[in-house]
Amino acid sequence: MFLVDAHLDLAMNALEWNRDLRCEVADIRAREAGLTDKPDRGRGTVSLPELRRARVGLVVATQIARYVAPGNPLPGWHSPEQAWAQTQGQLAWYREMEKAGEMVAITDLASLDAHLALWQDPPTDAPIGYVRSLEGADSLVSVDYLEQAVRDGLRALGPAHYGPGRYAPGTHTSGPLEPDGPALLAAMERLGVILDVTHLSDDSLWQALDLFGGAIWASHHNARTLVPDQRQLPDAQIAALVERGAVIGASCDAWMIVPGWVRGSSTPQSTGCTFDRLADHVVHICTLAGSTRHVCIGSDLDGAFGTEQTPSDLDTIADLHRLCDALAARGFTDDDLEGFRWRNVVDFLRAHWADRQWPA
Ligand SMILES: [Zn+2]
Repeated sequence: MFLVDAHLDLAMNALEWNRDLRCEVADIRAREAGLTDKPDRGRGTVSLPELRRARVGLVVATQIARYVAPGNPLPGWHSPEQAWAQTQGQLAWYREMEKAGEMVAITDLASLDAHLALWQDPPTDAPIGYVRSLEGADSLVSVDYLEQAVRDGLRALGPAHYGPGRYAPGTHTSGPLEPDGPALLAAMERLGVILDVTHLSDDSLWQALDLFGGAIWASHHNARTLVPDQRQLPDAQIAALVERGAVIGASCDAWMIVPGWVRGSSTPQSTGCTFDRLADHVVHICTLAGSTRHVCIGSDLDGAFGTEQTPSDLDTIADLHRLCDALAARGFTDDDLEGFRWRNVVDFLRAHWADRQWPA
């Protein structure tokens, strides 16, 4: 049962959480006993062996580093140059995992097809394939930096993250693209970089759909109708994304799954947050789309939260199969499930990458 996960922050976990992701989840948790510097210490759910166990053989893995202007209370770097350097450290970690045979970069049709062939009958130590994405564009010191990033294998980009961004306002903000935003989108389109609309403000998302002619996905995004919050996709945005051929990744962050989550006091148990509730979001999107071809997994399971903030029937990422079971119970056919598990993302990449020449 091959799976694709369209959103994990592996390098951030390696470098900022100091997690050696080659270890078992239990060992990573044990090593964090007593630590309180991050909200999810001792409760992580993702490691490379666990991805293999889950048969998540292909992921979209991020680089991420925010710039914060004076007065911005979010964690972040005080200059774009520092943020760029942070992402280059993350790139170096991915390269080390490639050298160690733990991961393999998927950057074009040939590497995608070879990797899928390997995972037909994978050896127990099969590398995890990864398509690299940049979450938040603050670290691109100028738009010119994008071409270097693409040469280095970057294939997707979400211009914004939480809060204000240098190119686009992000989650829980409002307003249109920043002055350099349109030029960034034009460079992305020219270079064949997938636009990830997750985390864009509402105005900038609509503006990006107008300006950008390339491939679009929403890597980790649930439905606003079911859980009201600007972080979520309203029905009109879902419809517009479907029209553009997007895939939308179901995210496992509890507050995005069940309404009324109160940070610090709600628990998955107290809110009834289970994979079945996440299936509600997937079914909602499919109903709007009139098809199961636009949904996928974008778990975000290592996005600065652990089991304190995931469905109660999840211990590690290997439990994602329960989400597929929940969808099967809702009437997903085997073919629908295959699309959800991996094929919708792979078809999207195949369509977008066909005949694409990347800058060498
Ligand atoms: Zn995110």
